[in-house]
Amino acid sequence: MAEYVLEASNLSRIYNKDTENAFEALHPTEVQIEKGDFVAIMGPSGAGKTTLVMILSLLDKPTTGRIKLDGRPTYDYSEKELANYRNESLGFISMDLILWPNLTIEENIALPMTIAKKNKAEIKARVLEVAKLCGIEQILKKKPDKCSGGQRQRAIVCRGIVSNPKFIVADEPTGNLDSKNSHEVLGLFQQLNQQGTGVLLVTHDCQVASYSTKTIYIEDGKISKVLERKDRSQQEYYEELVELTSDNIEELF
Ligand code: ADP
Repeated sequence: MAEYVLEASNLSRIYNKDTENAFEALHPTEVQIEKGDFVAIMGPSGAGKTTLVMILSLLDKPTTGRIKLDGRPTYDYSEKELANYRNESLGFISMDLILWPNLTIEENIALPMTIAKKNKAEIKARVLEVAKLCGIEQILKKKPDKCSGGQRQRAIVCRGIVSNPKFIVADEPTGNLDSKNSHEVLGLFQQLNQQGTGVLLVTHDCQVASYSTKTIYIEDGKISKVLERKDRSQQEYYEELVELTSDNIEELF
């Protein structure tokens, strides 16, 4: 039987509900993330991707619907349990996140473990481990303003995975990276995924989505297409994704 890390049913989001500006950005939607899934969310700008991701990463509440984490509905969790879940089981990575300027890269990466009151030796060892995975172990003692944009972005990725989360939610995680760095970060997600971490990734880029096992395409707040990689090669999957998204581009002309 499928083992779900996250199951969302009937999720919708109406902004400015009960006002004349009410806008249904997300129509009732079902999403399931199985243990070990690597799901990409694609779709045109304004389609509702960020709205969905904010809800799935528990940073916003849906207008209708419910979310089950590890088979247990979120309304069953106390606020403290949800905060712990968000901190330890869910790795949220977005390039809109910042690193604290007064903390070193090491302290920034360590934050989720520091908040969870893990012991210092364990934190130090784990931070070094993820920094090595992302190739930034040489900048751990530096402050963010002494690092390059790519190094800062990798540090944000490290902070997102340091607690060994059950699943990672990443909103355009390679947005500002060059292609070599992007492939390295995506390769890392793939590696974590193969070890059992669920990955949910928002992107507009078919190359990035081609690392996933399943792509959900959203238009006008609704899931309009789902494409599974199955046993296709990454190149074949990429070509299908280009075809899937080009339908939409053609409509513009
Ligand atoms: P995407 O991430 O696919 O670009 P969003 O989820 O950001 O799309 O937005 C979906 C729709 O909801 C857009 O039309 C956007 O203008 C609208 N929207 C997003 N956030 C808000 C908000 N806080 N208040 C009102 N409308 C919003």
